[in-house]
Amino acid sequence: MGDRIGDLRGRALRDLRISLTDRCNLRCVYCMPREIFGPDHVFLPRERLLTFDQIERVARVAVGGGVTKLRLTGGEPLLRPGITDLVSRLSRLRRPDGGAVDLALTTNGTALARLAAPLRDAGLDRVTVSLDSLDDEGFGRISDTRMPLGRVLDGIRAAQAAGLPVKVNTVVRRGLNDGEIESIAEHFRGTGAVVRFIEYMDVGTTNGWRLDDVVPSAEVVERIRRRHRLVPVAERGSATASRFRYADGSGEIGVISSVTEAFCGSCTRARLSADGHLFTCLFASDGVDLGPAAAESDDTVAEVLFGAWRRRDDRYSELRGAETGDHDRARVEMSFIGG
Ligand code: SAM
Ligand code: SF4
Ligand code: SF4
Repeated sequence: MGDRIGDLRGRALRDLRISLTDRCNLRCVYCMPREIFGPDHVFLPRERLLTFDQIERVARVAVGGGVTKLRLTGGEPLLRPGITDLVSRLSRLRRPDGGAVDLALTTNGTALARLAAPLRDAGLDRVTVSLDSLDDEGFGRISDTRMPLGRVLDGIRAAQAAGLPVKVNTVVRRGLNDGEIESIAEHFRGTGAVVRFIEYMDVGTTNGWRLDDVVPSAEVVERIRRRHRLVPVAERGSATASRFRYADGSGEIGVISSVTEAFCGSCTRARLSADGHLFTCLFASDGVDLGPAAAESDDTVAEVLFGAWRRRDDRYSELRGAETGDHDRARVEMSFIGG
């Protein structure tokens, strides 16, 4: 298998995000609003989830075709029973050049205090914890939960104590948590955790997204700059974040400008839903069902996976413009494919 599979725009497949479940123990208002994801919402039945054997097969084939990064996500990935076993299986995969795969996890952090050390021991390389408020009341309101914020902060500490590099992802939404930009940056400055502020995106169709709700990354950087000297970190590559370090050496922040500065040209990411559908764009309406191939053989997975990638022409964010005018089209939900 060659190690570079190009899409119609010449982009190679490098990252695979694997959703382990569509369920979550939080109901973040911009992701799984409770009016939609309430008691009557039908989640995937267990038998529809890809098994660990199927996930491992898809990951192995993807890595054989040039994928260097695997990220486990959800819903909330830590709700999937046996996740440490899956991590240990995936961490053993090797790239065609013999190199290790970068194995990461995105989580809401609520179960991380218990699982950080076992995940590290199983071979996890790093973790991203999503956290949008450092205020108990704000956290409860944004994540629509009675769970205490302290659980997430304990999770972050446990991950760091276990030796896992930690990033904190903060989605900034006007009127919801934009008043906390400076305090969140300050809280994690000097702790080794890198905060990345993310522009609120029009993913899915349930969150009632409006352009006015987006706080441009430029504003975020400007506000932190009023307090600290920031130096841009040059390297960007296919990374989504623009990075800045504090000039006094107290750490780093990042901004992800998915709306104001689209990065489709360097998008090397595919997403696998918990029921085995491959989405080649966060804003896609449908995915390609990899489940049957994943139950069959590596060759069948390669055919379906790379076939879908070669046909890919996605660049939604570049085309979005100020008005998408596109809100009636069905789009997959973020909680289904994991961001
Ligand atoms: N439950 C895990 C978590 O929250 O980290 C993993 C799945 S969650 C869908 C992945 C990421 O998507 C989170 O960082 C979340 O904040 C982000 N996200 C969800 N909806 C979003 C939106 N409309 N715009 C930007 N980011 C969003
Ligand atoms: Fe759950 Fe993550 Fe979505 Fe929040 S952002 S509702 S934690 S899946
Ligand atoms: Fe990639 Fe689609 Fe996002 Fe563009 S809009 S960066 S193609 S996921």
